[in-house]
Amino acid sequence: MSKKKPLLTEVEIVDAGAEGKAVGKTGEKVVFVPFAVPGDVVDVQVTKKRRRYAEGKIVKFHKKSDRHAEPFCKHFGTCGGCKWQHMAYEDQLFYKEKQVRDNLERIGKVDVTSMNPILGSEKDVYYRNKLEFTFSHRRWIHEGEPMVEQGSPEEKGLGFHIPGFFDKVEDIEHCYLMAEPSNKIRLETRKFAVENGYSFYDLRKKEGYLRNLVIRMSTTGDVLVNLVIGSSDAGPAVRLLDHLMTTIPEITSAFYTINEKVNDSLSDLEATHFRGEKFLTEKMEDLTFRVGPMSFYQTNARQAYRLYDVARSFAGLRGDELIYDLYTGTGTIALFLAKNAGKVVGVEYVEEAVKAAMSNAQLNGINNVSFVAGDMAKVFNNDFVATHGAPDVIVTDPPRAGMHPDVVEQILELNPEKVVYVSCNPATQARDLEMMSGNYTVKKIQPVDMFPQTHHVENVVLLQRKA
Ligand code: SAH
Repeated sequence: MSKKKPLLTEVEIVDAGAEGKAVGKTGEKVVFVPFAVPGDVVDVQVTKKRRRYAEGKIVKFHKKSDRHAEPFCKHFGTCGGCKWQHMAYEDQLFYKEKQVRDNLERIGKVDVTSMNPILGSEKDVYYRNKLEFTFSHRRWIHEGEPMVEQGSPEEKGLGFHIPGFFDKVEDIEHCYLMAEPSNKIRLETRKFAVENGYSFYDLRKKEGYLRNLVIRMSTTGDVLVNLVIGSSDAGPAVRLLDHLMTTIPEITSAFYTINEKVNDSLSDLEATHFRGEKFLTEKMEDLTFRVGPMSFYQTNARQAYRLYDVARSFAGLRGDELIYDLYTGTGTIALFLAKNAGKVVGVEYVEEAVKAAMSNAQLNGINNVSFVAGDMAKVFNNDFVATHGAPDVIVTDPPRAGMHPDVVEQILELNPEKVVYVSCNPATQARDLEMMSGNYTVKKIQPVDMFPQTHHVENVVLLQRKA
């Protein structure tokens, strides 16, 4: 029998912490509470108890912080998308900056006095260029909603997963993450599918025709739709895409993808081109990138440009340097730096991304870059250095887990004059910086916000070799 979990009373909320939850304290105890804001005093029902901390939900407010903002989206609280809408954007920025500062100081032992203020995103809504929606034959029914008849159109859903539930989808009416025609496309898809009796996927039984709808846009105005279906019969998908392209002329490319597997992942599948352009065109300064239905591209393109611009200015290039761009993805940073450098070598383990990087180099007539496919911890070895030469600058942009210790070791071994560390997780960045602190001084720190309304934050650090 499970013991009833405790109710913590008059918990003071002291910080807006990692993973989007606020941090509450009662005595020595720490409790993580979603939807709370620093300055709140609340009663918290504990839902999860661990040795060093607890998690819980607010059951009563004693004091409501004046940092609370009214969430503007009706799906807030159910949808997993924008978990920080209950704070105004400037407060979100304040806590993101604090997250970076605290991590660098506590974990990295970094002197943060010279840290630059966070670069906020010009757009704090409609900033994403890619969204993936899920079809569900039974959407999430909210408390207090009138009864919904089984099998009725109202029961179907096309939207986002509810955090923690693989089989629950919030039917989205309006999403603030992506500009029009994104909402129009999703709503028209839902309407046509219902009117024409298409089956929406049963996420438990793993059956049904319509599985996912991926919408991508570029800053140049291209709009790509990729419809993911659970059967090899493409006929109905083609009819739906034809209808979308006829009624929504802004769509420039349409694809469908057959996914008969039980899991949702698309990376191991191929999209079939139906009509229109075969890719989106993205531009950054004088560079052009071709983005296919499956290619990776930073999801906030305008802010990605500012991030790369920071990385470039931190690198302070003379024009003749040899640069390594570790975790290069589709080579965007490498290509962005190439005209200010002697040569750039990019490393990335997703082969498709490396192919895209090479074709983007060709498309832009850039000859002083090369790309290597492979796992960093394996390919970034002495042979690699013997082949490509000793770098003057290393740019590194690892995933959330940070760099493998062997990769950090190798950087220390190579001892380049500068390391520009771009990170999407200040905690692992701080850990890696600490490992490098014997040989390098942190010279510059610039947090950048790529994902307004969420707790995510990027940070760029310039490390300078000690004399
Ligand atoms: N710098 C790129 C992408 C950064 S995201 C950009 O700005 O667009 C991090 C990249 O690291 C991803 O493309 C991911 O595929 C790659 N990656 C993750 N683990 C890796 C590993 N062990 N070896 C090589 N690449 C890896």
